[in-house]
Amino acid sequence: MKAFIKKHQYNYIKRCLNDLSNTYKTCSDSNVIDAFKSYTQDKIFNLFPSLSEEERELLILDKINDPSDINNYLTSLDKYAYGMPVITSTQISKLFKKEKKLKLPDLNQENSKNVYLGWIDKASNKLFVAYNMDDKIIGMACRITSTDSKKANICSLCNCIHVENEVAFVSPICKTSNAAEGGYKSIGFTICLDSDKCNDRIESVEKLEDILKEVNNIK
Ligand SMILES: [Zn+2]
Repeated sequence: MKAFIKKHQYNYIKRCLNDLSNTYKTCSDSNVIDAFKSYTQDKIFNLFPSLSEEERELLILDKINDPSDINNYLTSLDKYAYGMPVITSTQISKLFKKEKKLKLPDLNQENSKNVYLGWIDKASNKLFVAYNMDDKIIGMACRITSTDSKKANICSLCNCIHVENEVAFVSPICKTSNAAEGGYKSIGFTICLDSDKCNDRIESVEKLEDILKEVNNIK
């Protein structure tokens, strides 16, 4: 069986299973637990438009009878989860060819399962994002405009609430076909500064793809 669970889908399943684990711990009524388990099962199956018999078997929650079984379940799924394809330094340099003295990310990605590749260049105070959309690598260079906010912020990509220095408000330079705007426009959003952690939490790529489309003027 080939890897068939995208990293963000795996993150979603992980959180659903965490909710199930909490239900086991806080609820003594087996009917309620069973109902929650079947609700969780539906949510997991609904992620996939089609599943082979073998894939379906892997995702079945029947083997979980106790919260201690949940880790084994997730470990068995992890083998079939995959992230973005390995990306080379040449591809990154090409993607950000307008950047002077571009700092390359750690490209030791052999075993990493990333939804997106994110890294910070402290010298230029920019956060870079590279992502594989429909088999094409696209990216954005985001100026970090503030990191010192004392109030809680929500990362636009992973939707987690963070405090202080864990997230930053960034503004990528956008491509636009409108000459009246000088060929450029600016947008802004909040994002985790620690891309590894963000990659372990992100459960949907919708927002990420929306932002990247807007930045790259992809209709
Ligand atoms: Zn995040």
